[in-house]
Amino acid sequence: PEGRQRKPDWIRVKAPMGAVFNETKGLMRRLGLNTVCEEAACPNIGECWTKKHATVMILGDTCTRACAFCNVKTGMPRAVDALEPQHTADAAAELGLEHIVITSVDRDDLPDGGASQFVKVIEALRRTTPTTTIEILTPDFRNKAQAAIESIVTARPDVYNHNLETVPRLYPTIRPGARYYASLRLLESVKRHDPSIFTKSGVMLGLGEERLEVHQVMDDMRSADIDFLTMGQYLQPTPRHAKVLDFVTPKAFDAYAAIARAKGFLLVASSPLTRSSYHAGDDFARLRAA
Ligand code: SF4
Ligand code: SF4
Repeated sequence: PEGRQRKPDWIRVKAPMGAVFNETKGLMRRLGLNTVCEEAACPNIGECWTKKHATVMILGDTCTRACAFCNVKTGMPRAVDALEPQHTADAAAELGLEHIVITSVDRDDLPDGGASQFVKVIEALRRTTPTTTIEILTPDFRNKAQAAIESIVTARPDVYNHNLETVPRLYPTIRPGARYYASLRLLESVKRHDPSIFTKSGVMLGLGEERLEVHQVMDDMRSADIDFLTMGQYLQPTPRHAKVLDFVTPKAFDAYAAIARAKGFLLVASSPLTRSSYHAGDDFARLRAA
């Protein structure tokens, strides 16, 4: 039937509520910050916000692209907020974050694609909360990628994440504004500029990809020296978005994780509710302690 698809019972989430949840939300509103947790309708928001884990989405709440899987608003974005870098750092300080994930909408309208705002956010964080480790999850910056990478890499985030999202065959329908090999090259180029930065990428499953295509994506990622991999179940945010074609079982996610580890990824997160930023801080801290 049309409308909402029935979810299997392994996709169970806690309702977002409670004092800490409301505190996290209040802080974001007070500082005028957007979060991908809310804009992408992330199923983990109840759990993450109760632990004060939130992923800040910089450069506004309106994206210049319209990917078939994504709940973020599309249109002509507003001017960049000059206070956003310091407000992001203030949020990290108030939440007491040991690790922060910063992402953004795509800003194909800006001359630098928004790269300088990422740099300013990293600088503000280093000044305000110097021990917080910084993970950025960036767009592909399209034809401005080389300049963008050069400036961002110089600001030295700890982890550079950019999601491939799906297998190359599905790009024309799922990620029409992007190119698979351009995204791979972007991550390869981060590693080449500064091998001390960890690189990370992820895919959503359930969009019609075949198992061997997923294995091929892992091989492509490893040949681009990508260190961390995340895999999660795609969920349809609204009936207007791409349909879920399969619900991948937790066992199948485990099997993918085992293969990914054998292929040499340093960190692998693979489960139905895994998202790019889900438990990112805990996983990274464990790696650094090892
Ligand atoms: Fe936010 Fe990431 Fe947690 Fe989802 S998984 S609620 S996007 S921090
Ligand atoms: Fe969503 Fe990113 Fe695609 Fe924009 S570019 S529609 S924020 S996935």
